[in-house]
Amino acid sequence: MCARIAKMETDGDRIAELPTSWVVLGENQGAPGWCVLLLKEHHEHLAALSAAEQGRVFDDVARVAAAIRSVFPASGRGGGPPRINYECLGNLVPHIHWHVIPRHADDPEPTKAVWVWPEERLRGTMSGEERRALIEKLRAAMGFGASR
Ligand SMILES: [Zn+2]
Repeated sequence: MCARIAKMETDGDRIAELPTSWVVLGENQGAPGWCVLLLKEHHEHLAALSAAEQGRVFDDVARVAAAIRSVFPASGRGGGPPRINYECLGNLVPHIHWHVIPRHADDPEPTKAVWVWPEERLRGTMSGEERRALIEKLRAAMGFGASR
């Protein structure tokens, strides 16, 4: 993960730089709008951060969730996806990162974690052009101008 972060300025999936993290559009877009926050500094465990730092990380996470809700205002009742999943797992990558996953109204299994979905469904069918458009929308919703 640190190697990816070192090249973040040219990362095609980059959405924005927030105070503690880089935000990228997830490779998996079976749940459209799925974002991943990568902690800028290398740490494996949230518990290793100070309480203040943990708070700043969660400010970033919540900002991303708010952006997702505003980009998908109608995918659930009352605005925004019915649920947002906040996941800090680290089972595969030992560098703190958060998945912020909208669970839209058409979610096939809304009571289960997305990881039970088959690979193909996780991946989704979003084109490169749709990904770029979504990145710009999310970026604007986080209060940033056009990226490129
Ligand atoms: Zn790292």
